[in-house]
Amino acid sequence: MAASRQQTSSNAAPDPDYDAIIIGAGMSGLYQLYRLRELGMKVRVFEAGTNIGGTWYWNRYPGARFDSESYSYGYSFSKELLAEWEWSEHFAGQPETLRYLNYVADKFDLRRDIQFKSRVVAAIYQVETRSWSITLEHGSSFTARFLITAIGPLSTPTLPRIEGRDSFEGKSFHTARWPKEPVDFAGQRVAVIGTGATGVQTIQTIAKEVGHLTVFQRTPNWCAPLHNGKIDAETQARIKDGYPQMFARCQETFACFIHTPDPRGAFEVSDEEREAFYEKLYGERGFGIWQGNFRDILTDRKANATISDFVARKIRARVKNPAVAETLIPKNHGFGTRRLPLETFYYEVYNQDNVELVDLMETPIERITPDGIKTSAKEYAFDIIIFATGFDAITGAFDRIDFRGAGGARLKDKWRNGPQTYLGLMVDGFPNMMMLMGPHTALGNIPRSIEYSVDWVTGLLRFAQDAGLTRCEATAAGVEAWTDHVKTLGVGLLSNEVDSWMTGINRNVEGKERRIVARYSGSAPAYRARCDEVAARGYDELTLA
Ligand SMILES: Cc1cc2nc3c(=O)[nH]c(=O)nc-3n(C[C@H](O)[C@H](O)[C@H](O)COP(=O)(O)OP(=O)(O)OC[C@H]3O[C@@H](n4cnc5c(N)ncnc54)[C@H](O)[C@@H]3O)c2cc1C
Repeated sequence: MAASRQQTSSNAAPDPDYDAIIIGAGMSGLYQLYRLRELGMKVRVFEAGTNIGGTWYWNRYPGARFDSESYSYGYSFSKELLAEWEWSEHFAGQPETLRYLNYVADKFDLRRDIQFKSRVVAAIYQVETRSWSITLEHGSSFTARFLITAIGPLSTPTLPRIEGRDSFEGKSFHTARWPKEPVDFAGQRVAVIGTGATGVQTIQTIAKEVGHLTVFQRTPNWCAPLHNGKIDAETQARIKDGYPQMFARCQETFACFIHTPDPRGAFEVSDEEREAFYEKLYGERGFGIWQGNFRDILTDRKANATISDFVARKIRARVKNPAVAETLIPKNHGFGTRRLPLETFYYEVYNQDNVELVDLMETPIERITPDGIKTSAKEYAFDIIIFATGFDAITGAFDRIDFRGAGGARLKDKWRNGPQTYLGLMVDGFPNMMMLMGPHTALGNIPRSIEYSVDWVTGLLRFAQDAGLTRCEATAAGVEAWTDHVKTLGVGLLSNEVDSWMTGINRNVEGKERRIVARYSGSAPAYRARCDEVAARGYDELTLA
């Protein structure tokens, strides 16, 4: 980036080590590296793990797989890649997705600019040199003009705050820190704590292998069938031919999935039609029942009650023991107002003789013991405890880096009462820092959002390069306006009235007991239109120098 180098030389300050530093080598970091190389930039990626892949590198738990259709999840930027790669299933498992990302990294020769085992612990903006200095866990430091965070919305695992957690003498694993070697469940007494999306995938997979399985459930989640299947040769050919149309559709839908809400309201059809529509959705693949349902099920309590009631009837029909079925039916939130786990014979697991469900609302865990778990009712002995307790979502990875902007201001302080961002991409007081998949950005079918955000950031850096700019910063007014806009979008959504990682609640993390608006809940097309407008006007809403 010649222009910036000249500028710093004339200020007699040393050139930064890199034009840009990217933190994280998941889908976001890999694609950002690819794009910045095209600008001729000197880029370094620092990744905490020992290899690329992010989510798909860390989450090796049994049964980990997509709930986006595989072909709608992969990168769309390279026609050659689309032609070469073949997904084997409609919803690929983690090993396949990790293979895919390694294929991408090799195909585009990305690894040579990535430094592994390099956790960034601090990032400090230096006003004089208009550059960022990052420090790694083991002490070394590097500087760059631009800092791009690609640290993941779901990358910081949380363990439950249970007394005696470390006293257990058997094996214990968090699902997002699963060992690379296979775990043998045969004949083992296994506990799973947590019944979110990850817990559901783990439970339905290991139930076939374990000696005995005990599931500890605090909050049941509404789940719907995934209906996964192999992709045969004919379908494969159809998928490949149809890529342009499918990606075009993902650009038009509300959350970048191939599914999008039905324009009808739940009460604009007869009871019979509504029932038949729900039945159809329940029998179809993927998120259709959540993302392709009547337009008002996530905003209108009565409309929501119709689908909640439908799915509750399905659970009752699938689980033989009526008391167990009732425990599995959520009572404190409506269908789809928390992230919807997709399942494959999950409910049937509870018909197995060797599976027990423990309702923690009735009998809470008192402590973990050297032998197992003690609830208020009884003591259980286990060989293996699995913590499917999820993530410190969206802001968690940010909280674990000491970000200091101009004048030493801490990002953590600025975000004390919830994140404040400009377009979910920048923060005032933190010049030259851009965030990928951080708070307040459109997520949805995430790779579609990743590609958009990376391209937007790349456009800004190209603009800076061409104009010889060395400082790009969001304004306080811009941040206030976007943060207010994001909050307004959340008003009236049933999901914002429910405790979940989407509203910033995680009882296992200190300080996360209060709801915040961390998520952009508007439509992806509206988000992109707003960001495009800023770029088209020469980024005139930013302070540029
Ligand atoms: C089990 C699971 C299933 C999912 N399924 C889907 C799905 O079907 N569809 C969908 O759209 N999304 C899904 N997601 C969300 C998924 O996170 C995104 O799709 C996507 O992988 C995010 O990519 P990313 O690169 O932004 O973040 P990540 O993949 O999380 O990568 C972030 C990387 O940053 C690294 N990092 C973080 N902090 C630091 C630091 N301080 N220093 C150095 N490195 C750091 C991490 O080690 C990680 O490798 C799923 C998530 C999980 C956990």
